[in-house]
Order: sequence, then structure tokens, then C-alpha cells
Amino acid sequence: MRTVIGLEIHVQLATKTKLFCSCSTDYFTAPPNTLTCPVCLGMPGALPVLNKKAVELALRVSLALNARVQEFSRFDRKNYFYPDLPKGYQITQREYPLAVGGALSFRVDGEARTVRIREMHLEEDAGKLIHTGDGALVDMNRCGVPLIEIVTEPDIQSPKEAREFLRTLRMLLRHLGVSNADMEKGELRCDANISVSTDGKLGTKTEIKNLNSFRAVERALAAEEERQRELLSGGGTVEQVTFGWDEHAGKLVLQRSKEEAHDYRYFPEPDLVPLVVSREWLEQVRAGMPELPWEREERFVREYGLSPKEAGVLMEEPARADYFEAVARACGSPQDAAGWVLSEVLRYWKDDSPPISVEALTELIEAVREGKISRTNAKEVLEEAIATGRAPMEIVEERGLSLLADEEELRRLAQEVIRENPKAVEDFRAGKKGAIGFLVGQAMRKTGGRADAKKLSEIFLEILGSN
Ligand code: ADP
Ligand code: ZN
Ligand code: MG
Repeated sequence: MRTVIGLEIHVQLATKTKLFCSCSTDYFTAPPNTLTCPVCLGMPGALPVLNKKAVELALRVSLALNARVQEFSRFDRKNYFYPDLPKGYQITQREYPLAVGGALSFRVDGEARTVRIREMHLEEDAGKLIHTGDGALVDMNRCGVPLIEIVTEPDIQSPKEAREFLRTLRMLLRHLGVSNADMEKGELRCDANISVSTDGKLGTKTEIKNLNSFRAVERALAAEEERQRELLSGGGTVEQVTFGWDEHAGKLVLQRSKEEAHDYRYFPEPDLVPLVVSREWLEQVRAGMPELPWEREERFVREYGLSPKEAGVLMEEPARADYFEAVARACGSPQDAAGWVLSEVLRYWKDDSPPISVEALTELIEAVREGKISRTNAKEVLEEAIATGRAPMEIVEERGLSLLADEEELRRLAQEVIRENPKAVEDFRAGKKGAIGFLVGQAMRKTGGRADAKKLSEIFLEILGSN
């Protein structure tokens, strides 16, 4: 049995103002119903005006996905009643979408996959219902926030692949500066269609609406895949229905059957002129495109000598890639920068911004390189600098962590350790070269890890070798 999945994805575009009016899109933090006007509240006679920036962000996505941007697209009204939709219709693009075709490539367990895009269009968001103990409240701030809807072809082969597709799409959207695409905040939402076929032809699909985390996408699809498989193996047939997903219970919730399918009475939006994307405009958008993540990944491998895996980890968030690149330039050593960023800084990186500034990390990297502090101690300093926000070298000074590199002092230390460890000295003279490591270790312990281990081992060799 073969599983086939197609996704319909809504992405909130990171514009300052809404799709058809100048109200702010900052609905996440503003008090309810403060970001509205006659246009987004659907007052009679109010006229929408298309937001150019929203179109340009959508064009970026089209170009990045290699979709064909339509020179002519048009807005339609999708009519339905819901308390969070004061106009009684949503302005969307149905018959003539902004772009068609295209594809997104990504990896699943190391295997390359490509999913074709069917079409991409612009539309406005609805408001929000907030359910309370004794009813529901409505917040219209989100009404008219710009969205793009991306519809894939039914090319996805498993729930896990659906999740990886979405992850890659989110990464792309963030690199393009088009959307923060945070699923938890509803900036990226997914409806998933799935069918299981027994004969190689496309089976009857069901739809799972409003999935709002990567985990939910994978789990809900896996549950529905399982249900359809069982149904079909028992000789039954799949009915075309729509589900919701209860993440808490881990269960599909039946929302409507085919008989209840909506009729939205689409018709062309009479208050908007068709959208014409001239070749010049499209080329202008193309010229202003940021570097695509897969191009940047290749460049990091080529230019900085990173492994594809390391570059991939940095690419997951554009802020990480930017940070690494800034540190690599500032400290002049991509290897050092990669080592510190990937195995240290990322462990502390919790939100959008780096836990320590480029300057502070560079200062620390240089101190290690110049032998002012040991690598082990530097890691502790980093932790403290991140926890307290203080300058690394200030911490080094205060905690007396600067490296003991003074020749004289190291020599004195070595003599002391030799006196205290006659057994190891004997071993060394008997040919056990490893004993040097033990002696160095003892000396390090005495200094709290502050001694320059390389120099110390040279000094031990010199003293013991010459006796
Ligand atoms: P509908 O008319 O029900 O909205 P569409 O043909 O517009 O269906 O497709 C909606 C989404 O469902 C697309 O992402 C598409 O790839 C996917 N899809 C279509 N047919 C199937 C199928 N048989 N199995 C899985 N997904 C499908
Ligand atoms: Zn408004
Ligand atoms: Mg459809």
C-alpha cells in the first residue's frame, strides 16, 4: 500500500501593514480590536487597496520555489459566514493565482526528495475567536493580515516526509525574510491531505485541518495513514471527510463529511483591479533576493571548509548562519568559529538572538589562540559570560584564569611534580612514554587547568630526557 500526501500551507507575510488597509499587523501583542479600520472590519463602502510589499514578499517565495509568476492574477471573494469574518467573505485568489508550478527539494534520512508545487496565491487572514467558560470573544486584529497559501502536488510519501518538507519550507521563508513562520504562533499553518492506495492509482483522500506544529503534522498524518490502511485491508472504503486534530488526546476529530462540503460562491472581487506583475517589477524583486539557504550552505562548505552537515545545522536559522559568518570574519579563522559556534554557543541559544555577542566570542577565541587562556577554562568563561552578560576577559581576570605560560614558572612547577611523582618518572625512564601525560595532568591539577599543557609537556621531556 502506498501513501500519498499533499499539503495546503498558509504563511503569514511579515509586512508592517495589512493586505488591503494601513492597519498594523502586530496583532500578537496589541490589545484586542485596536488594530482595525472600516476596510478590515468590512464596513459598507470601504475600499481595499493592495499592499505592494505583500506582493513582493510573495514573489520572493515564488522565485525561490522556481514557480512561474503569472503576469496577470486576480482576486476573488470566498463567501462564508463566521463570527471572526465581519465582511462575510474572504478576499483570496482562486481562478488566477499569483504563481503556478515550482518545487522544493530537501532530504529525508539522507535521501533527496523533491515535492512539486501546484500553485501559490495571496489572501487575507480572518480574525480570532477566543473561547471562554461562558461563550466566545472575538478579536478582529488579525482580519486582513496578508497570507500566502502554497498548495503542493500529492508528491509526499510519508508523514515524516511531510514534516521535513515543512521544516525546509520554514527555513526557506526565514532566509527570505518573508515570514518568521513560527507554527506555534500560527504564522505557518498546515492542512494535510492524505490517501492510501492499493492499486497504484490515487486513492480517496481525507483532509486534516489546522495543524499547528511539526509534531502535530507527523502524528496526525500517521494516525490517519494507519486508519486508512486498516480500513482498506478489511475490505472497506475510505470516505472523503475532513478531520481536526486533538494534539492533547493524540486523536483525529471528525469535522465534516462530503455531503456538508461548503459552497463558497466564489466570484471576482469587484473592488480590486487585477494584479499585473510586469517583467521589470519581477526582475527588480529578483535582484533584491537574499541568498537562498541551499546556495549559502554550499558557499559555507566551499568558502569556510565546513562539512555539509555543519553548514546544514547553521542554515536551520538564518540568525545562526549570520552569527557564524560574523564570528568567522572577526576572528579570521572559520575553523575556530565553527568549533565554538557549533559545539558551544548553540547549546545556549534559546531564542531568536545569539546568547553572546560576536565581539565577546571573538575576544574569547583570540585569547585561546594567543595562549592567554586554556580551552577548557574558556568554555567555563563562556558559560559565565552568557549567564551574566559580562565581558569574557573581565571574568578571566577576576577568576585568575589566565594561562600560566611563563617559562620559568612552568619549569618550577614541573620540578615540583617530578619530585612528588617518582613512580611516574621511573616509568618514563623505563620506556613508558605515556607517563608524560600523567605528569602533565598532575601539573594541570595543581594550577586548576591554567597551565599551558603543550609547553609543559615539552619542559617535562626536556628535563627528564636530559637526566
Ligand atoms: P480539493 O478540491 O479537495 O481541495 P485539490 O485537488 O484542490 O483537492 O487538492 C488539495 C490538496 O490535496 C493538494 O495539496 C493536493 O496535492 C492534495 N491531494 C489531491 N488529491 C490527493 C490524493 N488523492 N491523496 C492525497 N493528497 C491529495
Ligand atoms: Zn484596517
Ligand atoms: Mg482545493
